[in-house]
Amino acid sequence: MPATTLTIDLDALTDNWRAMDAKSGTNVETAAVVKADAYGLGVAGVCPKLARAGVTSFFTALSQEAVAVRHAVGPAPDIYSFSGYSSETAEAITQHDLIPVLSTPEHVRDFLTADPTLPFAVQLDTGMNRMGLEPAEFATLKDAILARNPYLTLSHLACADDPNHPQNAKQLRCFKDMTDGLGLRRSFSATGGTLIGPEYHFDLTRIGIGLYGGLPYTNAKPVANLQIPVLQIRDVAVGESVGYSATWIAKRPSRIATIAAGYADGLIRAMGSGKVMLWAQNTPCPIVGRISMDLITVDITDLGHTPTHLEILNQTQTVEDLATAAGTIGYEILTSLGGRYKRVYKGN
Ligand SMILES: *Cc1c(COP(=O)(O)O)cnc(C)c1O
Repeated sequence: MPATTLTIDLDALTDNWRAMDAKSGTNVETAAVVKADAYGLGVAGVCPKLARAGVTSFFTALSQEAVAVRHAVGPAPDIYSFSGYSSETAEAITQHDLIPVLSTPEHVRDFLTADPTLPFAVQLDTGMNRMGLEPAEFATLKDAILARNPYLTLSHLACADDPNHPQNAKQLRCFKDMTDGLGLRRSFSATGGTLIGPEYHFDLTRIGIGLYGGLPYTNAKPVANLQIPVLQIRDVAVGESVGYSATWIAKRPSRIATIAAGYADGLIRAMGSGKVMLWAQNTPCPIVGRISMDLITVDITDLGHTPTHLEILNQTQTVEDLATAAGTIGYEILTSLGGRYKRVYKGN
């Protein structure tokens, strides 16, 4: 049986990076955020292509993710780890030449007492109240930090997916109040903030979701295609049910295809009650009954032929469509995509 296959279009991915790089403007570096295994698409496949396209900085959440990126891209690029610096991460950071993003007063203090030759970044909290030094904490530690010449100073917007949200300007004011005139290299925006406008760009933008085809970058090219083999086809008579709890009952003689993926592969149950279709080339076929752990049942009565596989992600139905149907965001759909898929990279 053919495997359930997630195909990642690396040319679409690098086109998305180039488009976001153009929006970032000249003299602004456009970094790639590749935490959570490149948003589920696979660091080893994605990062070398991005590096060849011109990405020179990568951001990860955990130090072990950063190590995987180092293995993928070699010694040249800057690789940041948002998890900062601690006794647990110190060895990986020095050994693999990683840049810890220091985000708590404790991490800053620990770091400043360690090897003084290591580069580091500092995260400031300008209003999200998640990570980063608050204005008062930064004021206390500022002289010690500046004396060690941070490689990058960054903050993160809470509401950038809504360009009209008043918190954006408020956080921008706070970031400038904390950092203007200090001669720091600064980064403020992820995908959403980069789309708001140039005053949000500073020296480096950090682009995640926009690379992978998700909102808020509305013009992103779709990057992921997911092809699921058909395991069985059966005829169901009027009045018979399909799936758990018998939620779907045939109103006409029906042909039902059972395909080889389910909620354990990130195709969460909530999608089943929405508008999600399975696609035989250009023909949509509705999901019937509940999504199971490893299986989905699909009504192919009107298809007129027997498919060997169906697609749930393609050029027409994107990560965002699955997210909308399931009441979540593209980020969650992408990062939930399963470890059981065969990942194929197109445009290597
Ligand atoms: C995840 C993350 C990003 C990337 O955000 P996108 O919205 O995916 O572009 C940038 N900066 C920080 C601190 C993050 O946590």
